[in-house]
Amino acid sequence: MPRVAFITGITGQDGSYLSELLLDKGYVVHGLKRRSSTFNTERLDQIDLHPRDPDARLFLHYGDLADASSLAGLLRDIQPDEVYNLGAQSHVRVSFDIAAYTADITGMGALRLLEAVRRSGVDCRVYQASSSEMFGASPPPQREGTPFHPRSPYACAKAFAYWAGVNYREAWGMYVSNGILFNHESPRRGESFVTRKISRAVARIQAGVQDVLYLGNLDAVRDWGYAPEYVEAMWLSLRPDQPGDYVVASGTGHTVRDFLAAAFGHAGLDWRAYVRIDPTYVRPAEVNALIGDASKAREQLGWAPKTEFVDLVRIMVDADRQLLDDERRGRLIRRDR
Ligand code: NDP
Ligand code: GDP
Repeated sequence: MPRVAFITGITGQDGSYLSELLLDKGYVVHGLKRRSSTFNTERLDQIDLHPRDPDARLFLHYGDLADASSLAGLLRDIQPDEVYNLGAQSHVRVSFDIAAYTADITGMGALRLLEAVRRSGVDCRVYQASSSEMFGASPPPQREGTPFHPRSPYACAKAFAYWAGVNYREAWGMYVSNGILFNHESPRRGESFVTRKISRAVARIQAGVQDVLYLGNLDAVRDWGYAPEYVEAMWLSLRPDQPGDYVVASGTGHTVRDFLAAAFGHAGLDWRAYVRIDPTYVRPAEVNALIGDASKAREQLGWAPKTEFVDLVRIMVDADRQLLDDERRGRLIRRDR
């Protein structure tokens, strides 16, 4: 019998890469999708088989992390071996504007899912998408024992979800692992995160359809890795006999300014000619520097990052150039799911 996975947040960056990884490994994959007035399954377009195909192994179900009964019903019907909780209001800046919603989905949503697993009695392993943002003001390098000092409603919600996972492990003996992932990016990254905002702007400026790129704090340091490698760490973190918490990071830090220089430089442009500061993108409280120490994941899971910073930047800029070209030539065809 193939293994069965259930993924919340399947329509997001990581959900799409994780689906591809699990399908490659022979899993049947079920995902939670939100009702939306526009298509929200674009990132799954690479996956060929439609559910009505007899060989299909990817199935999407309407539900929401706000809706406990939808989670319980799906778990009962799907009977997964593995549950990956990737669903979240995942944007730090936005979490200051919709703090209570972020706490409800990103924090309470994780608790609702854990509770649904516990009460349904489904025998499964749970992965919780925890975040380096939980470390916040604690200086780098951050590792598993580093104290949390969250600096945004998003980070507070993620810290709650992290501890809920640990608590369900300790209180109920459930298999729950936290992956504490540092920033990871790709051509599928949401357009309002800084890396994608920059790579997309480079493509558009070069094509003559954008003049200026407005940004906030250019001094922040982040540890940026390549998302397809990071979803492998999620799968690996559910393999040991005992659950655990793992930092997943590249171990190298760069400023937003470094990213700008690399991305515009790749296109032969000088970023200083195009970038302006807009205070609306500056956060009420900033996380100045995140650089992770992934020694535990390396030693216990055998995971290591492969893609270097400059290659990540090139992958993203090249993909956005291609995407713009495809859009202009009307080459993009969307699948219905
Ligand atoms: P995305 O923002 O790309 O995806 C978030 C997913 O959550 C989407 O599928 C979204 O659906 C879904 N979602 C949002 N609200 C709800 C809700 N109310 N109910 C159910 N699903 C919902 O995030 P990533 O793929 O980049 O990240 C995956 C997870 O990892 C997130 O939890 C994120 O916070 C966390 N994380 C990410 C890091 C990163 O660098 N990418 C770093 C550390 C942690 P829709 O498509 O409809 O919007
Ligand atoms: P985060 O690390 O999860 O908050 O990921 P982001 O990509 O949203 O932000 C990374 C860093 O880039 C943060 O320190 C932001 O303050 C900084 N930054 C600077 N300008 C911008 C901007 O215009 N948008 C975003 N999203 N971040 C910006």
